[in-house]
Amino acid sequence: MAGGPLAERIRAHVAEDVKGLGGIGLATVQVGEDPASTVYIRRKHEAAAEAAIASTDLKLPEDISQEALAASSGLLNTDDEIDGILVQLPLPRYLDDAAAVLAIDPVKDVDGVHPFNAGQLYLGRPTLVPATPLGIMKLLAEYRIELDGARAVVVGRSDIVGKPIAHLLLQANATVTICHSHTEELERHTLDADLLVVAAGLPGIISPEMVKSGAAVVDVGISRTEAGLVGDVDPGTSAVAHFLTPVPGGVGPMTIAMVLSNTVRAAKLRRGLLAFPGRQR
Ligand code: NAP
Repeated sequence: MAGGPLAERIRAHVAEDVKGLGGIGLATVQVGEDPASTVYIRRKHEAAAEAAIASTDLKLPEDISQEALAASSGLLNTDDEIDGILVQLPLPRYLDDAAAVLAIDPVKDVDGVHPFNAGQLYLGRPTLVPATPLGIMKLLAEYRIELDGARAVVVGRSDIVGKPIAHLLLQANATVTICHSHTEELERHTLDADLLVVAAGLPGIISPEMVKSGAAVVDVGISRTEAGLVGDVDPGTSAVAHFLTPVPGGVGPMTIAMVLSNTVRAAKLRRGLLAFPGRQR
């Protein structure tokens, strides 16, 4: 299940939408100079530029106070040229991630991490959903993976991947199990999965023996090793699984595409071109 071609199509669609809207704006906020964060942010700006989304790269000093950080978000909240705001997490340890997220206007929260958006998802009315789980759902639809009634197992329960993908799968009528670091006998769960989504950040945590024959496996993990970028799933799993997303080139390209797509969605919500979703049935 490669993500590149679908991500390309979504980005082309975004570019069309941006034209139709007469331009939109995305702001990233980075505190300090963590090199990995700088690379992620640069990629988002490059992708935004390709879709003609105007992007602002706000870099704040490592020693900024919580109040000054909130004030910077406040300025972006009221800036009419800005439709989406991404605060690069995690912040340096002395700052509170949750407080920083709360300072973002939920309608500009294109990472879908504000409690309003997390709550909307929990209640079954996804509004702005984190990009990675959204990208996974698009991939599953593209490859026509049956979700209704399927047994889905999610390994990982982070706020940006594990929990939101579990909710989206539940809303698609899968029967969902969430595993985490306290789960005992992980393979008892994974072997039962028609769909296995793995987001633990532990290379090779899933071996071929842990996967049911014919299952669809989505590998979200990305770890930098001496052998290059690797996922959480042993590549040998492709001999057992019906579908397996590659790393790199699977979920990664979808995430970037969905950040752009979320920015278009945020612009439409803010301009009243889209209604805030009511409960889905
Ligand atoms: P995270 O916040 O570190 O969460 C990891 C999760 O894995 C936690 O819920 C943890 O459980 C669980 N876990 C740890 N050890 C486990 C074990 N032995 N068995 C079962 N579960 C275990 O990570 P994240 O932000 O969700 O990211 C996960 C991975 O996906 C990382 O490699 C990250 O780089 C990658 N990622 C990729 C993309 C992309 O676009 N491709 C996007 C986002 C993230 P506890 O909650 O109990 O600690």
